[in-house]
Amino acid sequence: TQKLLRVNELKQHFPIKGGMLGRTVNHVKAVDGVSFDIHEGETVSIVGESGCGKSTTGRAILRLDEPTSGEIEFQGQDLLSISKSDMRKMRKDLQIIFQDPYASINPRQTVRQILNEAMEIQNAVPKKDREKRIKELMDTVGLGPHQIDRYPHEFSGGQRQRIGIARALSVDPKLIVCDEAVSALDVSIQAQVINLLKKLQRELKLTYLFISHDLGVVRHISDRVIVMYLGRIVEIGDKKSVFDQSQHPYTKALLSAIPVPDPENKANRIILKGDVPSPIDPPEGCRFHTRCPFATDKCRTETPELRTTDYLKEGHMAACHYMEEIEQGKREPAYT
Ligand code: SF4
Ligand code: MG
Repeated sequence: TQKLLRVNELKQHFPIKGGMLGRTVNHVKAVDGVSFDIHEGETVSIVGESGCGKSTTGRAILRLDEPTSGEIEFQGQDLLSISKSDMRKMRKDLQIIFQDPYASINPRQTVRQILNEAMEIQNAVPKKDREKRIKELMDTVGLGPHQIDRYPHEFSGGQRQRIGIARALSVDPKLIVCDEAVSALDVSIQAQVINLLKKLQRELKLTYLFISHDLGVVRHISDRVIVMYLGRIVEIGDKKSVFDQSQHPYTKALLSAIPVPDPENKANRIILKGDVPSPIDPPEGCRFHTRCPFATDKCRTETPELRTTDYLKEGHMAACHYMEEIEQGKREPAYT
């Protein structure tokens, strides 16, 4: 399969202003050197706690916020070098769905107007064909064409997310960034929307960047998984490989937090202590060392790079000095 998106050394540092002159006194290093690829037709998820930089990464890819540095290539085209107006045209190919569709749609517009406007802005569908297209879209997302003259508040949360999906689809995109797209929904509704997204992916050959804090959801939808911590990728790989053979202690901790049917697995549990440190002055060395039960002096000074190791599936990488020894049970977690 073709490479659709390439992100290289992406950084997003937000300035913090201070003092009487309002100078930049420091930076929030929200994303601090992130690289990954997405192939056509794939679902790649980014998981991590709030503040890890996952949403910031998604927004930077669409240039909703201008990234500080790095490269973003979409179908071989460098997105950071094109003008803002050309970037707006690119939004036809690159769409985003947010957690709360209500916040991103105009409550005074009917569904017909919402979808019509989306197509008009992107010049996506000729005017004479839009009515037909709107009805098709309503069918596609399972709402039914008879609902096109209703207002957003007349729909449930799950239905509103379907409107958000219809709006994204209306311009016939290639990549959709789903930023916590099902996080606000009840579990049963979540499953329905995820199944819809999967069905649409198959039928329309869509590619997803799926951003979520919820590993249960990520497990259902992903082909590959990226785990972020404090602005960096700590683990990346095939979904099954990352879930079944997690290497980074942070990934293990996230997995420990979801209920497991198999109590035998308790031996591998890692319980996180403390809070995520500030992204203004992230810890030296391994950023996870302040919370890692395996941390040594080396971890406090030397930054571990993302790397693979002999027993891992191709493309599975983690950033931990000791992943082999932890895997082999040669290191005991220390809890204080
Ligand atoms: Fe823990 Fe050290 Fe590995 Fe970082 S490098 S995850 S602190 S053992
Ligand atoms: Mg977020």
